[in-house]
This record gives sequence, C-alpha cells and structure tokens, in this order.
Amino acid sequence: SSRFAVVEQGPPIEVFLLNKLFTDDTNKNKVNLGVGAYRDETGKPWVLPVVQKMEKQMAADETLLHEYLPVLGLEQFSNLSVSMLLGEDSSAISEGKTFGIQVLSGTGGLRIGAEFLNKHLKYTTFYYSNPTWENHHLVFVNSGFTQPRVYRYWDPKTRAIDFDGMIEDLKNAPENSVILLHACAHNPTGIDPTHEQWIKIADVMEERKLFPFFDSAYQGFASGDLDSDAWAVRYFVKRGFELVCAQSYAKNFGLYNERVGNLTVVVNDPKLIPAMKSQLTWVVRGMYSNPPAHGARVVANVLADKKLFDEWRGHIKMMSSRVMQMRDALRAELIKLGTPGNWDHIVKQIGLFSYTGLTSKQCEHLIQEHHIYLLKSGRINICGLNPSNVEYVARAMHDAITK
Ligand code: PLP
Repeated sequence: SSRFAVVEQGPPIEVFLLNKLFTDDTNKNKVNLGVGAYRDETGKPWVLPVVQKMEKQMAADETLLHEYLPVLGLEQFSNLSVSMLLGEDSSAISEGKTFGIQVLSGTGGLRIGAEFLNKHLKYTTFYYSNPTWENHHLVFVNSGFTQPRVYRYWDPKTRAIDFDGMIEDLKNAPENSVILLHACAHNPTGIDPTHEQWIKIADVMEERKLFPFFDSAYQGFASGDLDSDAWAVRYFVKRGFELVCAQSYAKNFGLYNERVGNLTVVVNDPKLIPAMKSQLTWVVRGMYSNPPAHGARVVANVLADKKLFDEWRGHIKMMSSRVMQMRDALRAELIKLGTPGNWDHIVKQIGLFSYTGLTSKQCEHLIQEHHIYLLKSGRINICGLNPSNVEYVARAMHDAITK
C-alpha cells in the first residue's frame, strides 16, 4: 500500500502528447504541425546565430559568476525589455511610469502578474478570448482568480473575429475584470484586431473600467517588425491605461527552454513603484525565489548592442518571412488541387499559427492516415511546413476533406 494511491492519472497536455506521438512515429513522411516552435526549411529547430555568438562569448568570459540574481532579476534586461515593448521614445518611460521584472518566460509573467493582481488589487474575474492559448485558464485560476469568463473572438462561419460579440461581452464585464489580450499574432487563430478595432476595444475597456493584461509571446512574428507588433500595447499606454504585459523571448529569440521573460508594468503614479516592486518581490520569493541568469544575459547583451540588435531583427524578419511564404505555398497547393472551400484565411492569418477550419474528425484522419500531427482544434503551426512537405500536406488535407 502507498499513501500515493490517492493520486489519479491526470489528462495529457495535448501539444506535448502530439510531440511524443510524432517522435515515436517511424513513418518517413511524418510532419509535425502541432508544436508551437519555429522550424527551419529543413524541419529542424533553429538556434539563432546571434544567440550562438553571444553564448560563445559568454562561455569565454571568466568574470561571469553563478551567484544568485536579485529576486526581480537582471535590471538591465528588464529595462531593455520595457523599452523594446513600449518604444524608446515612450513618454511613459521618460516620465518614470514603467518598470519591468525578469520572470520565467511568458508563462511566468502571466503567473506572477495574475497573482499580484489577485493578492494586492483583489481582482477575481478574468476574461480570455474564445479560443485562446490553452494554458491561460489554468495559470489564472492557480493565481487565485475564481471567476474565469470568456469573450467571443473567433467566428467559425466567417473565419474572422466576431468583433460585435467581443465588444458585447466586454461591455457586460463587471468593473475591474482583468481582460487578457494577445498583443499580436493571436494564438491559436492567427487573427488580430485591426487598429480601428483596438481603438474600440480600448474605448469599451476605459468606459467599463476593465484592466488590460497583455500577453506578448510573439513580438516580431506577426509582421516581422518589433514596433508594428507592439502597436496595440503602445496605443493602450498612450491612452493612459495602467496595465501589465507578459513578454516572452521563447519564440523571437528561440530561447524556449531557457525561460526568459519580462513582466512590464505601467502605473500612473511613479511614487507607487517601490511598494509595488516590494510586493512583487514577495510573490516571486514564495514561488521560485529568483530567476535564472543565462538566457536573460544573452538577451540583454544582444538588445544593448546596436549591431547585435540589428542582426537579431534580421533573424526575426527571416523567420516571419519564411512563415508567410509557407502560408502562400499551402494555399496555392490547395487551390491547385481544387480542394473544396476558400483558403484565403491561411494567408490572411498571421504569426506562427493557422486556424485551418478542419474539423476534429478531419484532424484525426490526418494523424492516423497521413502521419501529420496537428491539434484537434485544427490549429497548425505553419513553420512545420517546408518546400519538401507542403505538397504532401495539401494532398492529405484534400483527402481528409473530400473522402
Ligand atoms: N502566451 C501565448 C499566447 C503562447 O502561445 C505561449 C506559448 O506558446 C505563451 C504565452 C508562453 O510561452 P513561454 O512560457 O514558453 O514563454
């Protein structure tokens, strides 16, 4: 007998399970469209050359120690991250209304930010888009938020945003609800609000006194340009919103397993910042005490050096362009095959993902019959496609749809 006999098997995490099924599959045609990570044109993970260069330089630097970082991490890293998000010319920065803290990638930023809002501002209601990244719900509930709600976002009929539905849901949200917004490259739909739509979202949120919590996991991946991708966050800040934003360097620096992130906070009164930082310190202290240094040093060293920064911008441009080319290629193949349906949404959507509109049965068929792995929601990671497999994938999709 064991005291652990009470532990029941938990459900699998879909993306990790898919990854394992893909790895175990011995079919030579197999394709992984499930994983949320960049792949190069040969289907391999890609270490950014600027990261490799920096890591070599750091390995040779005998002055680097393994002492603990402060609880809130490397200050230089956070300052550079805030500036990358809000823009160097941001008046919120020059007026001292912002600060950042180093956190464990995007997830850590969401978790620390949510626990802080729950503990200290007593916020309990949060809204996330339907659909959203599957972890949002769990992270907020584990942070103490007891009232999870959804706002409408994706309209399967038009394969676009259900904007009226979204606005209606925000209008009905109770005051002080935390509204989780994807800063850009919405996961999983690949559809972002237009600038005009963001303005309306801000109008309603201001009127209803709602709190914006931005999730920025893909800065640079939507348009290929860091500044364009930060438009929504910068607009909210210019409008005078107080807000928080969880930034991840997993995708745009390819530093997935290093857990490098920043939580940017914007506050109207700079005098409040020391108290806020002191309480954030206690939130982190009770969770993981302090963050790791390696990835944050890599990012800070690149962001601080104009030449390296430009080199990194080039890498982002390259990755996002490859994704766009593959969108075009997949759509072109489907049209060539005469696959029923309109495939324009594949090229209209942005970022890593496409919400294909395939049914869960069709997805199952792709996995079972064609060794093509994708989420049952029909979300595919476009960079799982490359010139040697895109025709195979299109044929398989055609088969799944027409059989
Ligand atoms: N938010 C969104 C929308 C994501 O898609 C992801 C990762 O897939 C994350 C946050 C968190 O990623 P990480 O914790 O690896 O930075």
